[in-house]
Amino acid sequence: MAQNFLKVTCKDCGSEATIYSRATSTISCTVCGATLSIPSGGKANLIGCTVVEALD
Ligand SMILES: [Zn+2]
Repeated sequence: MAQNFLKVTCKDCGSEATIYSRATSTISCTVCGATLSIPSGGKANLIGCTVVEALD
């Protein structure tokens, strides 16, 4: 439960990305460069993307 990945889509360009739910660094969209997630207290804070599904 503590370690899982999320499939997300970028709000700006709609491209899919897989990000770690507890990523400790800022994650940017590889297509348009928008910020998808920023670290927040050990948990990724999704700010520029929408979760499609959680991957185990
Ligand atoms: Zn994008």
